[in-house]
Amino acid sequence: MRDMLDKNGRRIEYLRISITDRCNLRCVYCMPESGVSSIEHAQILSFEEITRLVRIMTGLGIKHIRLTGGEPMARRGCLDLVQSLSAVPGVESISMTSNGILLKDKVHQAKLAGLSALNISIDALNPSVYSRLTRGGDVSQALCTLRQAVEEGLHVKVNTVPIRGFNEEELTPIAHLAKEAPICVRFIELMPIGYGAQAERIPYAEVAQQLREAFGAPVEDGQTYGHGPARYVRYPDFKGAVGFISAVSHEFCASCNRVRLTADGRLKLCLNHTKGIDLRAMLRQGAEDREILDTVRSAIADKPGRHAFYESIRDHEVRSMNAIGG
Ligand code: SAM
Ligand code: SF4
Repeated sequence: MRDMLDKNGRRIEYLRISITDRCNLRCVYCMPESGVSSIEHAQILSFEEITRLVRIMTGLGIKHIRLTGGEPMARRGCLDLVQSLSAVPGVESISMTSNGILLKDKVHQAKLAGLSALNISIDALNPSVYSRLTRGGDVSQALCTLRQAVEEGLHVKVNTVPIRGFNEEELTPIAHLAKEAPICVRFIELMPIGYGAQAERIPYAEVAQQLREAFGAPVEDGQTYGHGPARYVRYPDFKGAVGFISAVSHEFCASCNRVRLTADGRLKLCLNHTKGIDLRAMLRQGAEDREILDTVRSAIADKPGRHAFYESIRDHEVRSMNAIGG
């Protein structure tokens, strides 16, 4: 197995797989309230197709897999896929990004299937704020899954997107979760993609100031906790860490280590570029493993250098986040 470097010298070893664009929630910055047109089932990669692609891509140095969506647990058999992928030689870790609700009481089963880490998206602890943000979600269920994941000993991160006019008051209470338990709480700056372009981002500096006032001066943590771009700090007396993912305020493209596979089988080379290749067509037209491997290798080599959210690039991503996988 080799390391795969792109033309900018970045080592690509992390694959995010969106296994469905469907979701049980409707977060205001991610999906519309109604009128969602989902990809037809026949257009979505089967679990066998996903497993084959992962097997091929481990030959290029992919080691870490994250399942996302839409809501990955909204696809029937999601944990069977976790099990199949964990048996692929070369796969070192399988994680999932989930809103947690459909995972409630299934965390033990997920761990047995091979899940090692869970990122659970919780944008508010106050039930009515959470319900407003998710258009109807019940935060107590997400919190129950969070507790179960900690008890099972999974690596747990809470993902929170600060949105003006929605969850300003929730950020300190959410960060407090990392005071009580050895988990990471990460604040993800809203990206102007899909419905995110219609909501107002709360910049990183404002969140950091709010937390400093509540918990005191943090110290740099220096650890990475997984394979993502977050920068972590520790506040006094915290068991866990607080991370900031500031794609917009502090672009981190220079250290990007990932590519994405969409539910309909496109290999996406950058979150904010449409550039990619149609692996589903190759799979369904009978391509050999070697042919797919060579195509993926040259596509990764040509991965865009940066996302350029606010510049006029010609191939900006226009789809909503549930279709891309976050
Ligand atoms: N349904 C799962 C969940 O919510 O965790 C997985 C898919 S969701 C698209 C993945 C992550 O993307 C979530 O943490 C969500 O908060 C985040 N997200 C969605 N839209 C975003 C946007 N415009 N900017 C930043 N993060 C976004
Ligand atoms: Fe669903 Fe996740 Fe998008 Fe919320 S952020 S609507 S939970 S896919």
